[in-house]
Amino acid sequence: MATCEVCGNDYWGAFEVRTVSGDVHIFDSFECAIHKMAPICEHCQIKIVGHGVEVSGRFFCCAHCARTVEGKEGAEIRDAVGARPA
Ligand SMILES: [Zn+2]
Ligand SMILES: [Zn+2]
Repeated sequence: MATCEVCGNDYWGAFEVRTVSGDVHIFDSFECAIHKMAPICEHCQIKIVGHGVEVSGRFFCCAHCARTVEGKEGAEIRDAVGARPA
């Protein structure tokens, strides 16, 4: 058993998340993990749950947000590559 550090639930299925800096966090759900750890888009302020994009060390949820805030480098960002369906 382990206690979620966000909501306090003592749950048999709680799990650990290790960060690149070596910190270990314990959560009872992905929702709590996202609440505590997901980066926040610097343009629209949503939690970045998917891949998102990083430009000059700043995090954005999508290419549009990156282009809006970051000038030159942001303009290079695209959400997807390849052929658009007809
Ligand atoms: Zn929790
Ligand atoms: Zn955004």
